[in-house]
Amino acid sequence: MIMAIRRVYLDNNASTLPLPEVIDAMMTLLREEYANPSSPHQFAQSAKYRVECARQQVADLIGAAPKEIIFTSGGTESINLAIRGFLQANTPEPSAGRFVTTMVEHSAVFRVAERLAADGYDVDFVGVDKHGRIDQAEWDAKLTPETSLVSLVHANNETGVVFDVAKLGAVASDRGIPVHVDAVQSAGKLPIDVSSLPISLLSMSAHKLHGPKGAGALYQKRRTRLAPVLLGGGHERNLRAGTENVPGIVGMGVAAEAAKRDCGEFRPRVTALRDRLQRGILEAFPDAHINGLKAERVYNTANISFPGLESEAILILLSEAGISVSSGPACSSGSVELSRVLKAMGLDERIIRGAIRFSLSRFNTPEEIEYVVSLMPQLLSKLSTMCGA
Ligand code: PLP
Repeated sequence: MIMAIRRVYLDNNASTLPLPEVIDAMMTLLREEYANPSSPHQFAQSAKYRVECARQQVADLIGAAPKEIIFTSGGTESINLAIRGFLQANTPEPSAGRFVTTMVEHSAVFRVAERLAADGYDVDFVGVDKHGRIDQAEWDAKLTPETSLVSLVHANNETGVVFDVAKLGAVASDRGIPVHVDAVQSAGKLPIDVSSLPISLLSMSAHKLHGPKGAGALYQKRRTRLAPVLLGGGHERNLRAGTENVPGIVGMGVAAEAAKRDCGEFRPRVTALRDRLQRGILEAFPDAHINGLKAERVYNTANISFPGLESEAILILLSEAGISVSSGPACSSGSVELSRVLKAMGLDERIIRGAIRFSLSRFNTPEEIEYVVSLMPQLLSKLSTMCGA
């Protein structure tokens, strides 16, 4: 057994460490400013003011106006409000609605698409090539004049592959089709300026950008009609009922401001660490396959397959060594389901079965990456012997 000498967290696409300034801001809210921002008294005014400051900070991250930001409980809720809320408001009759998305979306979009199809909407999925790049001809062909809405992930959560939302969105907007972008993995990592992009709706999540869990935001471009998905009070301009999660929202605002401020500094650093990790792994295991290598990828993600080895076994050994990574999605029975994203890329089953996602953050250090790289030969040869690879 390999002894864990430290903890190395490389699962930042799952969730990130909240920044100290995020925690400090949230603690003040939890301890002192706990009033309901909708209450009529002065105490509540300060909570309301904090929410509006956070709205400005989140808007600034993506070049939006504060009134175009709706706070939600996270990426999944933002996506549900964007897609279901848009179709409900604009094409409530399913037989008249067409929704187009891609084969490699996060399940928050994919499951919504499946439900829309079950409800009677015409739903279509656009495929990708073996590098995870969208099939441009299929995208062009599937965006028919009947299409009510398209949804596109910006940075893929499994492979890190980045879709060119400007180019793909332009095809849609030239045909008068509104675009929703799932920017949960890109907001705070890649520059996004909605004021110059053909995007009507964009989803974000605080816990992916060093903010807290349970907070998210949806950008709703002016004049984009939405119906609420959650019914109740008139919060968030009648679009998202429920008392605001003030500490979470404030934490998201602080995280958004920090990401905008610091991205220029951490981006080259994280890129160099990710690239060093890839090189080190390829040296230890020359058959390793970097999924999405030929595509543009977000700089913190490396999805690496070890053909002949099982990702679950690699994950367990890495975890015993104190290294946290992810593999493909596990189903509730405990058995491993092959990644839908890697399958859509048409990869060989041996490659899919041995895939591990390493996702870095601004907090990772060169020492941590060297620790992982130094362990890999020992770990992989142990597994190869066990698996007879
Ligand atoms: N979209 C993408 C691309 C994601 O990676 C995730 C979470 O991993 C989500 C949506 C859902 O976000 P949340 O966890 O905030 O609900």
